[in-house]
Amino acid sequence: MSVNAVVIKIASRCNLNCSYCYMYNHADQSYLRQPKIMSESVYTAAMETMLNHSKQQGTHHKFALIMHGGEPTLVGVRRFRWFVETARSILGERLMLVAIQTNALLLNPNWAQLFQELEVTVSVSLDGTAEQHDAFRVDHQGKGSHQRTVNGIDVLHEQGVQTRIICVANPAARGDLTYQHFRQLGITKMDFLFPDITHDTKQAWYGSYGETPVADFMIQAFDAWLDEDNRDVKVRIFYNLLRSFMGDSPGSEAFGNPLLNYLIVNTDGAIEGTDALRVCDEGLVDTGLNVLSNEFDQLAQGNSLLFQASEAGLPLCAKCQACSEVAICGGGQFPHRYRKGSGFDNPSAWCDDIKKLFHHVRNRTGLFDVRKSA
Ligand code: SF4
Ligand code: SF4
Repeated sequence: MSVNAVVIKIASRCNLNCSYCYMYNHADQSYLRQPKIMSESVYTAAMETMLNHSKQQGTHHKFALIMHGGEPTLVGVRRFRWFVETARSILGERLMLVAIQTNALLLNPNWAQLFQELEVTVSVSLDGTAEQHDAFRVDHQGKGSHQRTVNGIDVLHEQGVQTRIICVANPAARGDLTYQHFRQLGITKMDFLFPDITHDTKQAWYGSYGETPVADFMIQAFDAWLDEDNRDVKVRIFYNLLRSFMGDSPGSEAFGNPLLNYLIVNTDGAIEGTDALRVCDEGLVDTGLNVLSNEFDQLAQGNSLLFQASEAGLPLCAKCQACSEVAICGGGQFPHRYRKGSGFDNPSAWCDDIKKLFHHVRNRTGLFDVRKSA
């Protein structure tokens, strides 16, 4: 197995309490057992584990390191600087990218200057206009966070720090208005995510929004992006989808059943699998491994599901194997296939949405999957 990215949870708690958050408001509640902030000894062990893995992979192997939480800025500016400088000092040339995913509430000029100085790539979670965002992304008092997040983005832009927006598709909102809102904020890089649900939870969370709520949102956003026709604006999911139709690999987790090529290091040093599995059931992300005493290549003993996902990809169910969209869709993100009883042997719970989105993209662009026509 080859791990190319590590998502490191330097803080386990958050200053928000988003209603859909897989950390705090789904089946898995294991964050309660985590230290609030990663210790220096655990962090150093994590960097050494990454270095060992990188050396095993050969001289050209490089890592991306994504600072995550909870909310990673809760560690404070001084400790964040230490985290980044320690990573660079241990991994050297093998560290190709340091990124942070933040809700931006705590950002101020000090943070922005630090990101610029340390060349940290910044992604901010924002779910659209105030009305859209505040429907889900609330603080511990139930107050919306949109204005505070926009203030944080403004601070980044004032200091010249480019920002990528990550937005979970919101079926209660219009995708085109969401896209236009981001553009008004000066955003040129964004991504729209399928909400993390399973067959067991979809009805409770999205049952009242119609047959294909995510496709409807995505199609509106896609059309707004095409209509603007600005080559400088990149919407990752759509850009990758168009490349897939032209024969490239999907290039993201959303489609194509890609190999799992990243691991999570939790705040106590536990080595874990993709966070989205937390919406499926308690314990699925666990490996029993820890950077304090284990290496990444022990994953086979720690969690056979994750090992299989990283070595060969999860096998597709019979319906996906027979589906005309399988070459591009690949069964969707594997946590979304989960159903109690049959596990991951199902199509994505977003299957109808995926088909509708693909159909629209073909109709709108005239692109047909070159693999089908070959
Ligand atoms: S900001 Fe992120 S980590 Fe915090 S509650 Fe919201 S989704 Fe969860
Ligand atoms: S999830 Fe649905 S669209 Fe995707 S491959 Fe499976 S059956 Fe086809």
